[in-house]
This record gives sequence, C-alpha cells and structure tokens, in this order.
Amino acid sequence: MIFETHAHYDDDAFDNDRDEILRLLNEKGIAPIVDIGASVASTKAAVSLAHKYAQVYAAAGVHPSDSGDLTDKDIDWLKGLCDDPKVVAIGEIGLDYHYDEPDREVQKKWFVRQLELAVETGLPIVVHSRDAAADTYKILSRDEFRGLKGIIHCFSYSAEFAEKYVKMGYLIGVGGVVTFKNGRKLHEVVRQTPLENIVVETDCPYLAPEPYRGRRNSSAYLPYIIERIASIKGSSYEEVRQATYENAALLYGVRADG
Ligand SMILES: [Zn+2]
Repeated sequence: MIFETHAHYDDDAFDNDRDEILRLLNEKGIAPIVDIGASVASTKAAVSLAHKYAQVYAAAGVHPSDSGDLTDKDIDWLKGLCDDPKVVAIGEIGLDYHYDEPDREVQKKWFVRQLELAVETGLPIVVHSRDAAADTYKILSRDEFRGLKGIIHCFSYSAEFAEKYVKMGYLIGVGGVVTFKNGRKLHEVVRQTPLENIVVETDCPYLAPEPYRGRRNSSAYLPYIIERIASIKGSSYEEVRQATYENAALLYGVRADG
C-alpha cells in the first residue's frame, strides 16, 4: 500500500470522475488517502468524502489564502468536527506570502487560532507555508506549540530549515516537485532528511509529477515520487514506500489494513 498524505478529491477538477478514480486507487493499493480541507466549504466536502469511502480520511482546516472571512464561529464548527473518527488532522493551515492575501497579520491570527485547536484536540497538523519561512518557523517554535506533530506539506524551503523541522519532530511532505529537473533545492532536502521523517503526497489536482507535469494530478502518480526519492537517497523503491507508509500511519493514526 502507498499512503497518500495530501489530496484534494473534493476539488471541481474531479467532478466528472471522482467515484471512478477513488475506486481505481483502492484497487491499485493507494490507501489510506487523506483529503485535505482548505476552506469551510472544502472541509465539509472532505468530511463527506471520508464518510463515503472507507479508505478516505479528512483533515479539517482553512488555508491561509482563505482565512480572510474566518470567524470564531467557524473555529467552533471546526472543533466540533474533530470528534469525528474520520477527521485525522487540522489542515491545511499556515502562511502564504506568495499571494500575500489576506493581510499577513490576518493570516497569522488564524494560523495561531487553528494551532490552538490542534493543541486542544490533540490532532496533528498539516502546514502550508509558502514564501513565509521565518514567520512559520517562529510561530511553530512557540512554547505552547512545541508538543505538536505534523507535516510541513509541499516543502519548499532550504535543507537547513528542513533539519530544524526534523529536530522538532515534524515530517517533510514531498510531492511532484521532486521529479522536476529544476527541483534541486528539494533534492538536497530529500538527500539530507532521514527516511523516518519523509512522507509522500500529491496535492492533486495540482503539481503532477514528471512525466505528467502540467496535467491533472492524481494519487495514481505517487510511484513516480517514491521512485525519485529512492534514487536520490540510494534506497530501494520498497524501502521508501514502506517507510513513508509507516510514518504517515503513525502520525494520522490510521492504516489501510486496520
Ligand atoms: Zn493542498
């Protein structure tokens, strides 16, 4: 089995063949799949997908770019969802200064509020951080968040930052970018990060790996990511598949085989 730690099957891009794809992935041994909420609406959709498919689990959370309209009521609503046994994480949450919208202070406020929710519920976190390395690290290093576990998803920072996160116990989410020729920075991160701290993800429908770059992504392409990690680390495919499966199963607390 391959553990898909980050997917968005609730996205419109799958409206025409969602059922078919999820059935096929199950047959191919891609399970479990964690469908990641990125807004109030997509969190709702992720939870309902998780109820429909045995192998699908949900993360509940609001992406920084969608945090502009958040209210305390939404946080209470998210908290209520955390009792659902199919909700396995708070995410994706974080900071995105690439689009820089909404205001950075607003993003930070709701990132912190959702981190507090993770502390309250004991759930792991899925962190989205883009062009915001220093602020993300500063917030996650606060004493009150030191006990949190989670994934720094679609890791895009230096090997030095990866090492800091690994020391804090975080997992590094590696996706399609690792197959890109211009993915040198990520190759260095993968080379240096112990296999015990790596998980695989697609972030589908976005970021399809080579040779499908630019097309709609799906978890069926995870083997290309595993293969590339194996070649960078000089490990076997099976070693990487198994380690990334166990890392994800331990973090999210679920397995395909019960
Ligand atoms: Zn995502």
